[in-house]
Amino acid sequence: MSNRRLLACTCGQTVPVEPRQAGGETTCACGAKLLIPPLRQLRDLPEEVAASEKPGGSWGLSQGLTSLLVVVAVLLAATAGFFRLTEPAKPVPFDFSNWQTESKAGIAKMTPDQLWQRWIDVYAPQVGANFQVYKSVEDQIATETIARHRKLEGYLGIGAAIFAAMAGILFAMFKGSRPG
Ligand SMILES: [Zn+2]
Repeated sequence: MSNRRLLACTCGQTVPVEPRQAGGETTCACGAKLLIPPLRQLRDLPEEVAASEKPGGSWGLSQGLTSLLVVVAVLLAATAGFFRLTEPAKPVPFDFSNWQTESKAGIAKMTPDQLWQRWIDVYAPQVGANFQVYKSVEDQIATETIARHRKLEGYLGIGAAIFAAMAGILFAMFKGSRPG
């Protein structure tokens, strides 16, 4: 353990001084001459911490942990963004007149058994529902997928915010306790 003390210069730098230099003089890197206080006062000065004695372990750990939290936060946010981007297109509201026109054109090309199948599959349920609600299976899947994506995006966003907040708190904590 070094027992050198740090003598502060007016320029903001510190000069390490040995106890045996007490009462003497030293020169700062800026060129200013500094009076070294007597031993009694020298003891009150901050101790020089040698490079190998620096509490680098905990600093490194906090820094590592903060970086990890930031990485997790970024990953969660990126995943949320990815889900948003890969979200299926919103189903367009059903246009009955357009559907009728398209159906007429389609029906003209159909064979009788295709027509019958079409009736069973598409028209009969619509008649039953008075043509009020028309939703294709694709539309329903898309709507459900969007809902699922939105929910997941919400969770991911909250997760990202929590991790970012934790990283911020940790950063502030270790920055405050950091020597120097
Ligand atoms: Zn100086």
